[in-house]
Amino acid sequence: MIRVAVNGYGTIGKRVADAVAEQPDMEVAGVAKTRPNYEARAAVDRGFPLYAAVEERAPRFEEAGIDIAGMVDDLVAEADVVVDACPSGIGAENRSLYETYDTPAIYQGGEDADVADVSFNARSNFEEAQGADHVRVVSCNTTGLSRLLAPLLESYGVEKARITLVRRGGDPAQTGRGPINDILPNPVSLPSHHGPDVNTIFPDLDIDTLGLKVPATLMHMHSVNVTLADAPTAEAVTALLADESRMFLATPDLGVDGTAAAKELALDAGRPRGDLWENCVWSESITVEDDDLYLFQAIHQESDVVPENVDAIRAILGEADASSSMATTDEALGMGL
Ligand code: NAD
Repeated sequence: MIRVAVNGYGTIGKRVADAVAEQPDMEVAGVAKTRPNYEARAAVDRGFPLYAAVEERAPRFEEAGIDIAGMVDDLVAEADVVVDACPSGIGAENRSLYETYDTPAIYQGGEDADVADVSFNARSNFEEAQGADHVRVVSCNTTGLSRLLAPLLESYGVEKARITLVRRGGDPAQTGRGPINDILPNPVSLPSHHGPDVNTIFPDLDIDTLGLKVPATLMHMHSVNVTLADAPTAEAVTALLADESRMFLATPDLGVDGTAAAKELALDAGRPRGDLWENCVWSESITVEDDDLYLFQAIHQESDVVPENVDAIRAILGEADASSSMATTDEALGMGL
């Protein structure tokens, strides 16, 4: 069994820990937290050994009546791999800790690309992470775009991608985020950081991205225009995407008219936390005009990177190839709606 440490047990970390616990070849060695909040209690309830991430704050756990198994250093020392899911920038600060104990590490998309040897998306470049010591799972939006662009590149070739990202203002629990009543060009200048981030996965891809922020918390929405080298029919693109394990096609019969319904569908399906790990592509939006493909896809920012982190663990340890790792991950999670 691969023993996985999760350092930073928030929105992403707690989901990754649960996903790891579901895998047949992995177990959670422990999770590290800075404070004894409700998520710390949930970790203990789930049976995950809990470690204090900051030494000076360790006594707070005991004051709150929560037993800890030790300090984060102990956890990193004994784990086979660590998933760092700390807030943006903290992962880079933690890199020396992982190096001290020679523990390979996986970082999240909020870190700069140079935190790691390779940026990762399982569908697109699994092999590049095999045997690397430091891997960055790209952000929720970059993950969603990579999953879409990989099959398009393979099947048709891409001349140019133009994506407008309508981004949620914050996650549901991020009470301090906004806007509350506005629509922000964000950033106002082009490109948004997403295009260059996609280039960490596909270095030669010609891509322009524009970003907006809106008063929503559920999901991001991408308005996609890709000029293809070989122009297929819309039906062919639909069939291509339907074949991808991490794509969910919202067909008209389902009546999924937006992100709220997509999330409701995931909740009704019994998904943990209502997570929608797949890209949600509206099949009716898939349109080909000459060699231009258009579509809308929604991305559940809190969860689409979760299966990618699980695959990154197998890649970094050289335990599997892309298709077998993705199949194991998907089956253990219950992918498919
Ligand atoms: P979060 O704030 O929900 O969780 C981070 C957790 O790390 C919190 O529990 C925080 O208390 C803890 N923490 C802070 N400092 C720490 C330290 N020094 N050691 C250990 N733990 C520490 O953040 P998140 O949304 O889970 O984001 C984590 C990373 O994932 C970021 O890089 C982010 O950009 C990326 N990401 C976030 C989303 C998203 O939509 N939430 C999507 C994809 C990627």
